[in-house]
Amino acid sequence: MPQQFRNFINGKWIEAKSGRTFENRNPAHWNEVIGLFPKSGPEDVADAVRAARAAFEKWRLVPAPARGDMLRKIGDLLVKSKEEIAREMTREMGKVLTETRGDVQEGIDTAYYAATEGRRLFGHTVPSELPDKFAMAIRIPVGVAGIITPWNFPMAIPTWGIFPAILSGNTVVFKPASDTPKTAVRLVEIMMEAGIPEGVVNLIFGGGGEVGNAIVSHPDVDLVLFTGSTEIGKQILRDGSSTLKRISLELGGKNAQIVMDDADLDLALDGILWGAFGTTGQRCTATSRLILHEKIYDPFMTMLVDRTRKLRLGDGLLQGSEVGPCINEGQRKIVDSYVTIGKAEGARLRCGGSIASGGELANGWFYEPTIFDGVLPSMRIAREEIFGPVLSVLKTNSLDDAVTILNDTVYGLSSSMYTRDVNNAFRAIRDIKAGITYINVPTIGAEAHLPFGGVKQTGNGHREGGWAVYDFFTEWKSVYIDYSGRLQRAQIDNYESGS
Ligand code: NAP
Repeated sequence: MPQQFRNFINGKWIEAKSGRTFENRNPAHWNEVIGLFPKSGPEDVADAVRAARAAFEKWRLVPAPARGDMLRKIGDLLVKSKEEIAREMTREMGKVLTETRGDVQEGIDTAYYAATEGRRLFGHTVPSELPDKFAMAIRIPVGVAGIITPWNFPMAIPTWGIFPAILSGNTVVFKPASDTPKTAVRLVEIMMEAGIPEGVVNLIFGGGGEVGNAIVSHPDVDLVLFTGSTEIGKQILRDGSSTLKRISLELGGKNAQIVMDDADLDLALDGILWGAFGTTGQRCTATSRLILHEKIYDPFMTMLVDRTRKLRLGDGLLQGSEVGPCINEGQRKIVDSYVTIGKAEGARLRCGGSIASGGELANGWFYEPTIFDGVLPSMRIAREEIFGPVLSVLKTNSLDDAVTILNDTVYGLSSSMYTRDVNNAFRAIRDIKAGITYINVPTIGAEAHLPFGGVKQTGNGHREGGWAVYDFFTEWKSVYIDYSGRLQRAQIDNYESGS
């Protein structure tokens, strides 16, 4: 029998009220069941929210530096468990071991950053317009935070939400993606081992339509941090509007890398392979479009197709595997359907384009790394997020044209340009409409201490990561202290003469 896991509410591991479960399977070996997880519903969410609300009244009073000390301990415990968690994560979601190690490392970095923020959480002191009066603005926690996360970064993305939420004094109801529940269990176990009090972090498993929706609609959840698809993000904004809760959305992308004719082509090649096929193309920041200067188009394409054909698909736990499987059968079908669309639109298939089924690969959801060229900006494969190992290549003849093509999308998450010309680099930084721009770096590689997020339909203006996320998880309270001993009327007594 596979191991059975439970929800975590108010410091206790308990079954869903329905008593029902769902399976979690290894995408590289579909026959392998990793565990059974509770199929929860709104009634379980209500219990978790109640626990989080009760815990909030105590947790908000714990000094922020003491909360920071717990975050530091969480970081230390993650360091100790890094290899074990990375292996479990590869089994659960397929990306290769070097990448799952990086995923845990991002959680470690986020924990240590949050620990330092416990001794900052800066407010402002400002001069008052009246004599003998003191004015300041301080940060206060908001309340109960719902954290809803996708499967592609099962450790990093939950930590981007949960760690700043609790450091700021909020309590949490956490719903991980149904494809990656096991990593969520390990994260919560580690937080408990570090001394996070009961009720501060609650974990509920189950489908987005049931558990996710119940969190978003619950009147006692004050804020929701959601990372996932643009389609679900829009729905969350609608569902949360009736209670006017604060909502942070980090959504899809259609990221592009520009390669100019003066670029270091070997460097640009390494960048595009990592950006397009790392994590099997299943990153919100994955390079989905390559915009190539016409002067280097043919030699670069030859090099790119040659290297792509040599990428080794396989179980991410095996030495030498470079590209793991798609997350599940449904996602692989979506990828395959976009290949059919690309061919029908008249793009030229340069490599890949099929389900990979040789030998051991037949047991998992593998898809060949795929490249289309001759792609036009109007084609669906140049406009829609595919979320798999498919790269669309477009031709350009100038920087202005390249930036226009890059900006021609509803998304605005990540972007990259390879050039040796510093003037071109700064013009691109100025003109590209995206939350992140890399120069001579692929579209992936965000660091935990910088703001992370996108413009246009990639989000709704908030940022995860770095110092910026603390603006989401705190309210500003303005405080005035008058020590004059008399009534002083702002805007009136100090301008009584009329001047
Ligand atoms: P998704 O289908 O939108 O799901 C994300 C999370 O939302 C999952 O936990 C899902 O639960 C839950 N959910 C589904 N329907 C819901 C509903 N009606 N109400 C509330 N929650 C609901 O996305 P995904 O397939 O997991 O991840 C891929 C997408 O995430 C891509 O579009 C990618 O670009 C985006 N992403 C964005 C960022 C970023 O920072 N901008 C980072 C990573 C990924 P279930 O798993 O149970 O369905």
